[in-house]
Amino acid sequence: MKITDVELIILKSPGLYNAPDSAEEPQGATFLGLVKVSTDAGITGYSDIETAPSVAKAAIDAPRWAEGGLEAFDGLASLIVGQNPLEMERLWYKMYRGSIYYGRRGAAIQAISAIDIALWDIAGKFYRQPIHILLGAAWRDKVRAYASTLFRGAPEAMRQATRIYLDQGFTAVKFGWGVFGRNPDQDVRLVEAAREEMGDQNDLMVDTGWFIERTPKQAISVVRSIEPFRPYFIEEILHPEDYDGYGKVAESVETAIACGEQEATEWGFRQLIDRGKVDILQPDLTRCGGFTSARKIVHMAELANRLVIPHSWCSDLLTAASLHLNAFQRRAVFVEFNTSQGPLSRSLVKEPLRIEDGYVAVPQGPGLGVEVSEETIEKYRIG
Ligand code: MG
Repeated sequence: MKITDVELIILKSPGLYNAPDSAEEPQGATFLGLVKVSTDAGITGYSDIETAPSVAKAAIDAPRWAEGGLEAFDGLASLIVGQNPLEMERLWYKMYRGSIYYGRRGAAIQAISAIDIALWDIAGKFYRQPIHILLGAAWRDKVRAYASTLFRGAPEAMRQATRIYLDQGFTAVKFGWGVFGRNPDQDVRLVEAAREEMGDQNDLMVDTGWFIERTPKQAISVVRSIEPFRPYFIEEILHPEDYDGYGKVAESVETAIACGEQEATEWGFRQLIDRGKVDILQPDLTRCGGFTSARKIVHMAELANRLVIPHSWCSDLLTAASLHLNAFQRRAVFVEFNTSQGPLSRSLVKEPLRIEDGYVAVPQGPGLGVEVSEETIEKYRIG
């Protein structure tokens, strides 16, 4: 089997991420890159990426500048077309090294991540096994989900939103950024409202959003102000590259500190583990380097006794991928479940993933185990 084509399809939803003061459910991704890898065996693999899709597309479509010479600034497709898609590990490094002069992070590693996921999807379809079996473990067939959404602008709206998610069967809810960080007193009241509504038996997570710049001491004081409401973790309290700052915060507070959605590769996650000392690593499969990187990150986390809760705030394709990673790791606590109702969040796969009693089933079909909807692609395709 050989790779015949790598394509990035650009999708645009009419909806927007919610307005910061809105009481409404956010709509989710506006732009999405959908990577499709084709083979001469008729097997195709898919992955979405939430990035600047035209930049990722350029990284994939760029020509092979270094034909016969140093592979260091080549288009990603040019590096893997004609290769055996089942060699995921070698192809990952071939793409990483072959894009080293312009890549390593940002849109290049996101494009590599999506291609890697598509290759694992192809491998699963080839071997007729779900990806978690290829990774080597089916520790569980369902994963507890947390509803992942944005902060609402007022305590009453926080209560209403919390109630809606509990009524849907969730036993854990995360509120993220939006209005959080504008007013410390209001922040406390918003978190308090969510905790009151959900009672003691459910879990509450807080994503403070790093766009609000904080020093480590300011971050510690934010954590302490909401610790009385017992958050399961507090996410991205500092700039994602302030590794030493994370180390100070993690060692100063009782609450688990989570970070990693912006981080990439095993080299990056080593910084978060050793210097950042974060309790919970949140690799996003479509940003960290795909399954090939994520399985190494899981091993590093297991060795360092940290938890991995993959970041997944995009479509059901990414949630499916995260479920496979969660089935593979020995200790999985949560899958992030984006509650957005926009079309790119909810209808990119034919049968959207569902919550049952607070859990989502790990897909058991070959590869990612979910089927991309051609109808949705045609409807929202702009490039
Ligand atoms: Mg986040």
